[in-house]
Amino acid sequence: MNVIWKDMQDLIETSSAPGDPPAAIAPLSDWALFLDLDGTLLNLAPTPEAVRAGPRLRTSLNALRAAAGGALAVVTGRRIAVVDALFPDHRFAVAGLHGAEIRPAPGAPLLVPGTAPDAPGFSAARAWAQRGARQAPGLRFEDKTAAFALHYRLAPDHGETVAAIMAEALTLAGPGYKLRSGKAVVELGPADADKGRAVARLMTLPPFAGRRPFAAGDDVTDEDMFRTVNDMGGLTMLVGPASRFAASAAATRLDSPQDFRNWLEGLTG
Ligand SMILES: [Mg+2]
Repeated sequence: MNVIWKDMQDLIETSSAPGDPPAAIAPLSDWALFLDLDGTLLNLAPTPEAVRAGPRLRTSLNALRAAAGGALAVVTGRRIAVVDALFPDHRFAVAGLHGAEIRPAPGAPLLVPGTAPDAPGFSAARAWAQRGARQAPGLRFEDKTAAFALHYRLAPDHGETVAAIMAEALTLAGPGYKLRSGKAVVELGPADADKGRAVARLMTLPPFAGRRPFAAGDDVTDEDMFRTVNDMGGLTMLVGPASRFAASAAATRLDSPQDFRNWLEGLTG
């Protein structure tokens, strides 16, 4: 399993020598790690509720966090509560809801609270999308408090239906919100949150501050994080197929979450 590096000049893919990429983020005590969850650390599942984190990954992340002096954050579109449920014994920082909620460590106060906006427009938009989910079997509404999502992984022909429902939801919600399209999902959430800003915020805090950032992700919303980390002189990794790599801001690539988990395990021996 070789990490694929992108030549930033002409976007030609080249295979690195085996062993080089792990050395590229060594020693871990110099690095701050920002890792997406679904499709990066975890295999995608038919529904958002069906993803699982195995004991091996939990052990591996704990070892990685320790080796990185605590500078490890999961940066996800999920709520922090979902991350806590998937990793019951974790100690890492979490940026949830694409940065609309940020918690530096379990038990610590939220830097950014992802509370449901007390706005009639948002409530109307949420109710609209909830009703819209009944338009086709397989559409799935997910309430994330400060955001909500409509998934169509089980109804792959209904991408346009979902786009139309969510466009109307955005109109109802009004200014202050935006749509994010991901893999078989459209989400509505606060316009002022994205994964790049979440990384930038955490990078101002110990133990992240002063380190070189590394970010890994698989989806469109991870591109904000890739650009931020590239601008900071860090290293970025797309987890996904070669067909997405040229359009991505990521500098390196691995094929699958399984490859990524194996690579992470290799970092701590
Ligand atoms: Mg993802």
